[in-house]
Amino acid sequence: MKSATTVSSSKGASSKETPGSDVTNDTPRDSAPEDVYDITIIGAGPVGLYGAFFAGLRGARVKVIEALPEVGGALKALYPEKYIYDIAGFPKVMAKEYVQMAYRQAATSDASFALGRRVRDLRRRDDGIIELHTKRDIHYSRTVIISCGMGAFMPRRLDVPNVRELEGKGVHYSVRNFEQFRDKRVVIVGGGDSAFDYALALDPLAASVDLIHRSASFAAHEDSVEKVKRSNVTLHYPYWETKAVHGDSKVEAITAVQTQTGAEKYFPTDAILFNIGFLANLGPIKNWGVRISRNTILVDDFMRTNIEGVYAAGDIVTHRGKINLITTGCGEIAIAVNHAKTYLDPKAKLSPGHSSHMKR
Ligand SMILES: Cc1cc2nc3c(=O)[nH]c(=O)nc-3n(C[C@H](O)[C@H](O)[C@H](O)COP(=O)(O)OP(=O)(O)OC[C@H]3O[C@@H](n4cnc5c(N)ncnc54)[C@H](O)[C@@H]3O)c2cc1C
Repeated sequence: MKSATTVSSSKGASSKETPGSDVTNDTPRDSAPEDVYDITIIGAGPVGLYGAFFAGLRGARVKVIEALPEVGGALKALYPEKYIYDIAGFPKVMAKEYVQMAYRQAATSDASFALGRRVRDLRRRDDGIIELHTKRDIHYSRTVIISCGMGAFMPRRLDVPNVRELEGKGVHYSVRNFEQFRDKRVVIVGGGDSAFDYALALDPLAASVDLIHRSASFAAHEDSVEKVKRSNVTLHYPYWETKAVHGDSKVEAITAVQTQTGAEKYFPTDAILFNIGFLANLGPIKNWGVRISRNTILVDDFMRTNIEGVYAAGDIVTHRGKINLITTGCGEIAIAVNHAKTYLDPKAKLSPGHSSHMKR
């Protein structure tokens, strides 16, 4: 990982690029003690980026703190080259391109970005200022929005022979670069959206794609399932499970078993893509005093946590209508920002009005 970096979106990085790879400045712009921001967003995934933009619309001074050296969250870390089809207004957009646009939008807010800094502790002082502690510095804010996604990106792993040993040698959990699978035989394990998205993306370029699924039905969008059924991808379901992965220095094959009949299939393959979900790993967030249920933060209708001035949005939260999507997370953080605004200034209107009416 690169060293920690703080940049102002409007000064430290080109507004056409996502910050991180091109940024080498290691001197925090805001190293003055008690430089208190109006809104500090923890996590620069798609939700945090949209929150930064919205905070700017509401005239708030905003900072984004991100553990990784680049912005984009799951989209950059797990599926930069996958197409996303369910963003309002975009028939399809590649994840890394979406992140670029989201960063450009966030940059209009003149947000300050502190990259490569994992927030370890959150403390609300008696005077209402919230301190965010990282390994190397403390950030100060009147309000905080937690948009940390699942925390760290920890893939769920199968406990079958050779899986761990061959990680990085043909066993994958996400795809950063589809080209690496060109003309390769690929087996995908899983039945959710990610598995089907990857199957559709790999179908045109891989030598073969087999998808193994252990249930009778799929959790993926119905439309994706139909498209895969019409593609060259071979589906092995229901009740097919991974029994073993084979290979010494690299993946050579996988054995699957039909758990109802005991029948086994041996697939020679070059790569296996396990898509059986990610484990939430909240890490330090568990000790911040926010109410947690099943590895997510409980919020009310205003996206407030139980700590005054602390809000949360995106994959990290749970509420009655929760759905983990970029679109819904962006809606949640818009709600959080507007309520943070009225918390900061009780005379402010809750409704932001239309963006075209707002002074940028
Ligand atoms: C393979 C796959 C495909 C998907 N496809 C789609 C799709 O097509 N459409 C769709 O709508 N959704 C899709 N999703 C879901 C979507 O990616 C998530 O809903 C979205 O990323 C949530 O955004 P977020 O900003 O809440 O969290 P994330 O994207 O997870 O970002 C959270 C950020 O917070 C940072 N962070 C965590 N802890 C700390 C800390 N303590 N201090 C500082 N920073 C921290 C992380 O490093 C990360 O960058 C997909 C997910 C996967 C895994």
